[in-house]
Amino acid sequence: MCSGRVDLAHILRAFANGVDGVFVGGCRLGECNYITHGNYHALNLVLLAKKILARIGLDPERLRVAFMSAGEGNRFVEVVDDFTRTIKDIGPLGQSEGLDNNSVDTALVEVSRLVPYIKIEKHTKLTARLENESEYADHFTDEEIEQLFDEVVSYYIDPEKCQACMICQRRCPVDAIDGGKNRIHVIDQERCIKCGTCLDACPSRFGAVDKIVGTPVPPPPTEAQRNLKRKAKA
Ligand code: SF4
Ligand code: SF4
Repeated sequence: MCSGRVDLAHILRAFANGVDGVFVGGCRLGECNYITHGNYHALNLVLLAKKILARIGLDPERLRVAFMSAGEGNRFVEVVDDFTRTIKDIGPLGQSEGLDNNSVDTALVEVSRLVPYIKIEKHTKLTARLENESEYADHFTDEEIEQLFDEVVSYYIDPEKCQACMICQRRCPVDAIDGGKNRIHVIDQERCIKCGTCLDACPSRFGAVDKIVGTPVPPPPTEAQRNLKRKAKA
């Protein structure tokens, strides 16, 4: 498939399935036949994924991106041979990094859950067009990746404000909101992928969804507290 279709989730899933290395190949930068120039996106995505791999303790050299034309068969062979040698030198996933299989699996599952959040937070940089290789190293910095993971957002429905209109429940892409008629809605934090759709969907006159950064999410209301008591009209 086109390198522009490669997603962070695909890369993480490949590692979660046990591969030792992932290679992303695309057409030469600036020579895409489509106005979208998705290969720049693939480049950004790989640069981001490399930082994320390092953040969870995996060797970022396990992931490589290269761009070439269909007529560069020799170059393709050289690049793939070199990458294969690199992966053989590094060794099996997790082993050379001193991580056991469980730790690797847990880390990859945790990061995979955050993919929608990461893509929203890094949207601007993911759509950039880097023209020089000198820009690659610092496009995503270690500091911003630390911050990304240290300040993961959560969404919380304020039981005092929720009017059980059910809009957020219908819009949530992963059914993470429990609700119903006259039931104060509650977000399942384990299932939530932090896409922020509920924050945008909640009507401003209710403003019941809070975005929380850096502090724990308050406990949800008890089942008894979830029965909505509507104020009588004057
Ligand atoms: S942020 Fe809101 S809409 Fe998005 S997954 Fe979480 S609960 Fe659902
Ligand atoms: S959209 Fe807002 S008011 Fe409506 S159910 Fe969701 S949180 Fe409650």
